[in-house]
Amino acid sequence: MIFRFVCSECGQEYEPGSFIWRCAVCGGLLDLADFPVCFPLNEIGKRAATLWRYREALPFDEAYEGWQGVTMGEGLTPLVPLSRDRANVALKIEYLMPTLSFKDRGAAVLIAKAQELGVRSVVADSSGNAGTAVAAYAARAGITCDIYVPGSTSPKKIKQIAAHGASVHAIEGTREDTAQAALEAVEQGTSYYASHIYNPFFYQGTKTYAFEIWEQLGGRAPDVLVLPVGNGTLVLGPYYGFKELLRAGMIEKMPRFLAVQAEGCAPLAQAFERGGDVAVPVVNTGTEAEGIAIAAPARSRQILAAIRDTRGGIITVPDTAIEDARLALAAQGFYVEPTAAVAYAGFQACLDLANTNSHEDEKLTSLVQEVVDRSKQIVIPLCGAGLKAA
Ligand SMILES: *Cc1c(COP(=O)(O)O)cnc(C)c1O
Ligand SMILES: [Zn+2]
Repeated sequence: MIFRFVCSECGQEYEPGSFIWRCAVCGGLLDLADFPVCFPLNEIGKRAATLWRYREALPFDEAYEGWQGVTMGEGLTPLVPLSRDRANVALKIEYLMPTLSFKDRGAAVLIAKAQELGVRSVVADSSGNAGTAVAAYAARAGITCDIYVPGSTSPKKIKQIAAHGASVHAIEGTREDTAQAALEAVEQGTSYYASHIYNPFFYQGTKTYAFEIWEQLGGRAPDVLVLPVGNGTLVLGPYYGFKELLRAGMIEKMPRFLAVQAEGCAPLAQAFERGGDVAVPVVNTGTEAEGIAIAAPARSRQILAAIRDTRGGIITVPDTAIEDARLALAAQGFYVEPTAAVAYAGFQACLDLANTNSHEDEKLTSLVQEVVDRSKQIVIPLCGAGLKAA
């Protein structure tokens, strides 16, 4: 078996089909062990415009074709210039996915993998979009699905999940209480944990964000990726993706990652500023950006290491800036939910920071300069559709 889970702490290996979600020896997070990937350029260009065009870089047995019954055509989302004035800044329109958020990347790959492994039922917890995506693909794959969401989740997202036939469990309390309820269901039951946080296959889906950008830019990496970060699925996935492209000799250098958090819930930004290796859990003091309001990100060590490895940085934006960014995007024709305006708000914050030049941190200053430099290629995702918000 070339696809193995490996403990990020002690190196213990596991069969991915086992219903284990963290290391049985030490409790560490599981990763997918490196496996050989390849990019058959002549083939990729001829295939349908979905993320499955990179299937030799996805963790499936060569003979497995079940994904064809699971896919809804997700991926290869448009990459469009922000404006004529800022043509070097490209927006990746992730809200044009089948369930209206980028989480379809992870969910399509994870659920197809669950199907290949013979899984009959899954459990997931989410602040909304991941739950919607997992519910939709599970329905398509004929897999029973239970989704745990915080009671405060947008009613529209809850309806969307229920419409796919999933059992919705709305949990009062914090996002962490919801995660706990899902874990209890996994431990007591016989379901596979289709977690976008713990399950390594989800990141195998989100890594295709990197492959698409590389292809859409004519076979090169951008200079800077601006990304929202909560649990890190759109940081770690693209990080793995660009690393694979680098190892395969398809790009010459890694793009720098500028991650953005909402000021009201920013444990990663605080750890980054402190120079810490892990995030210290915070109390969420409130933000409209419900999709990234993660007070205790489980993969914080990996996220911080990945961002530092790209010579990147993490900044925060207040809710007023998120709302301004949402309106500014709408004024350009793009209607997104508040969480999906965070990355663009981060870009706008860089424009301000570059003017005031007030940052003491040298590395962050150089990153900000790069983001506002019109000769650099910047990519910003619009992750979720505006009509999802209450
Ligand atoms: C999930 C999500 C994010 C951030 O993803 P994390 O994995 O929590 O970092 C950003 N925007 C939207 C719209 C999302 O649904
Ligand atoms: Zn371990």
